[in-house]
Amino acid sequence: SDSHFPVPVSPSQFEYSLHYPHFYPSEETNETDVGISSAAKTQPKIQFADVGCGFGGLLVSLSTLFPDTLMIGMEIRDKVSEYVKERILALRVANPGQYQNISVVRTNSMKYIPNYFEKAQLLKMFFLFPDPHFKEKNHRRRVISMHLLDEYAYTLQVGGTIYTITDVEELGIWMKSCLEEHPLFEAVPREELEVDPVVKLLTSATEEGQKVARNGGQTYQAVYRRIAAPLVE
Ligand code: SAM
Repeated sequence: SDSHFPVPVSPSQFEYSLHYPHFYPSEETNETDVGISSAAKTQPKIQFADVGCGFGGLLVSLSTLFPDTLMIGMEIRDKVSEYVKERILALRVANPGQYQNISVVRTNSMKYIPNYFEKAQLLKMFFLFPDPHFKEKNHRRRVISMHLLDEYAYTLQVGGTIYTITDVEELGIWMKSCLEEHPLFEAVPREELEVDPVVKLLTSATEEGQKVARNGGQTYQAVYRRIAAPLVE
């Protein structure tokens, strides 16, 4: 249950130095910075979140594409999140200086997004091949819903992007219609999707995407942008 994993009480309590030691060197080890208070140093924040990251394939691909951007995978299954953690540590050892910008937390993203990210902190959120929850009474357990989109809109900067993809047609239609109806999101135009290097990774980088591609399955994607709230007179 949730009581088995720690959740930061607020985003400021998230332990950046544990997850990204290369970006948050400790005072003792960083001799060149002696005399500069830690508050004066740049303190990068997480900007990409892969929600329900599974085995972490997307993070690994994004890491080298955006080496200066901090990213986090959120995964509810203990063993899977442990696997991702080990995978990242092994990559860091094998490739010195690389893969320092990615990490993972075991958490329930449907409950704790606001504990991890401040208002307008994120640039990109990913929901790749989420669990479908077919039954009507289980739709409230879907990771995209009108209520959860309010939270994601809060967390994303204006101009930030939400990427969704699934091989389940019904879920694809559901995710797209939620995003379409939500007043704080608009579809990213096709021309922009074609030149966005991240879009190609939706099917090629994740373990689930690769499985679907191997089986020749169809996918349904919806990529939407966070827009400013309409002005009310
Ligand atoms: N995105 C990955 C991919 O494309 O390969 C994994 C897809 S897998 C079908 C869905 C993942 O979401 C599972 O690993 C599952 O444990 C995770 N998940 C489901 N509900 C979650 C929640 N509330 N919070 C965090 N992760 C969740």
